[in-house]
Amino acid sequence: MEILRTIEELRAWRRLHWSDTIGFVPTMGFLHEGHLTLMRKASELSDHVVVSVYVNPTQFGPNEDLDSYPRDMEGDIAKCESVGVSAIFLPSNAMMYGDDFATTVEVDGGMGDNLCGASREGHFNGVTLIVSKLFNLVQPDVAVFGQKDYQQLAIIRRMVKELNFPIDVVGVPTVRERDGLAKSSRNRYLEGEHRTNATVLYRALKASNEAWAAGERDAGALLGVAQGVLDSVDGIAVDYLSLVDPEKLNLLEGTVEEARGCVMALAVHVGKARLIDNMRLDGPLPELSV
Ligand code: AMP
Repeated sequence: MEILRTIEELRAWRRLHWSDTIGFVPTMGFLHEGHLTLMRKASELSDHVVVSVYVNPTQFGPNEDLDSYPRDMEGDIAKCESVGVSAIFLPSNAMMYGDDFATTVEVDGGMGDNLCGASREGHFNGVTLIVSKLFNLVQPDVAVFGQKDYQQLAIIRRMVKELNFPIDVVGVPTVRERDGLAKSSRNRYLEGEHRTNATVLYRALKASNEAWAAGERDAGALLGVAQGVLDSVDGIAVDYLSLVDPEKLNLLEGTVEEARGCVMALAVHVGKARLIDNMRLDGPLPELSV
């Protein structure tokens, strides 16, 4: 596996592989099984997989965990190697932004206004900026993202379509712990009872999914089922709990249109961690055998 630390090294590697198909997995590192599942998917779909590990400062707000975000470069390199990644790109802030960076990339039209966009101002503009920069650098044929960050995936799909990036965006289902907790680098922050409480996100989604399966189609009632599960746990703070259209991400009210289906999404502060999760209510419950 090539370890590429500069833009020049990345470009030289890419030139060498000009006639191969490239699968790309952008990450912020502290890699876990969720990330590795994305890499395996990318490898099925391309000749070479490139992974970037970069904790992108422009997608963190002033009071967020940029400085304390967990990092493990040696471990990340070993994990990428273990799943057959061809090249890992490890850029620095200086090379990605310099000191006088002025360009913005924004998907407007409301997709970034609710859910995580409501409490993380500017977050998705940071994501679209770094992802478009990385797309230009890596020039992949396929880019693989997790459905765990549902809003991010929807916004990136729209950006790729509207800016004509010649890239297939592939979404991979959320990889979970046995008790349903979505794997996340931020699970590192969870200790003791917080780890137990963290299962409430999955339990809330599962209860609403079961309500849908039993025939419930009223948005308020579906949200009420999840809210009831959240209310049963002390010491957590719900940032949002919403029901949205699977593609447009607008908030749903009243009777949910069966043909469009719906996604329930939530963010909850548990101890020091802000955890997010989501689920299609009109789909099957995930398997938890991993
Ligand atoms: P991050 O390192 O958190 O920026 O995540 C990098 C990529 O991994 C994003 O596309 C995430 O959606 C994806 N990802 C993170 N956690 C999971 C998970 N539990 N299952 C599947 N994909 C994930």
